[in-house]
Amino acid sequence: METAGVMEKVEKGLFLPLMEAFYTIQGEGYHKGTAAYFIRVGGCDVGCHWCDVKESWNAETHPPTDIQEIVAEARKYSDTIVITGGEPLTWDMGPLTELLKAAGMKIHIETSGAYPLTGQWDWICLSPKKNKLPVGQIHSKADELKVIVYNKHDLIFAAKQAEQVSSECLLYLQPEWSVRDKVTPMIVDFVMKNPQWRVSLQTHKYLNIP
Ligand code: SF4
Repeated sequence: METAGVMEKVEKGLFLPLMEAFYTIQGEGYHKGTAAYFIRVGGCDVGCHWCDVKESWNAETHPPTDIQEIVAEARKYSDTIVITGGEPLTWDMGPLTELLKAAGMKIHIETSGAYPLTGQWDWICLSPKKNKLPVGQIHSKADELKVIVYNKHDLIFAAKQAEQVSSECLLYLQPEWSVRDKVTPMIVDFVMKNPQWRVSLQTHKYLNIP
């Protein structure tokens, strides 16, 4: 297909810049410890300086892939799908999630919320970032708020973000991996004083799995 045709399909969410897809264990948040098939979509301009998937940022380095192929592959592995990135909401998630739903999958998203919410979701993990705040009504739809803590200011940011989510939304604080030794004690102390919060660890990194 010529480039213009591919670009048009990407704009419609029929093709997506696929960085990688793999079957593993969800390491973080509420579903940690459970098997899921991860679809990592390229493209993100949020620019977190500590981002551990910077190679996802430039969508042009990831091949535009037909969502039919993505779903056919996913079906071989799991009924639970985690769509992550990059920032998946850079793209229209409607067509991909429609196909996954039609295949009977449970679909989770990990998003900063920096772009309008598209798609149908069984679980929304909102991980807001200070330098590009969530837009629209995503706070009220989040099942899980997961704030990455790099320094003590992130705890104040977390509390502000928690004011915007529903009363059922689960609240997680997760140490940024490179500074985990420094910030984990701070998080532990905060959670003991504010028990509506929970600690989330990147257990997949401790397990040495993707
Ligand atoms: Fe990286 Fe996620 Fe931040 Fe984008 S939003 S820069 S992918 S951590």
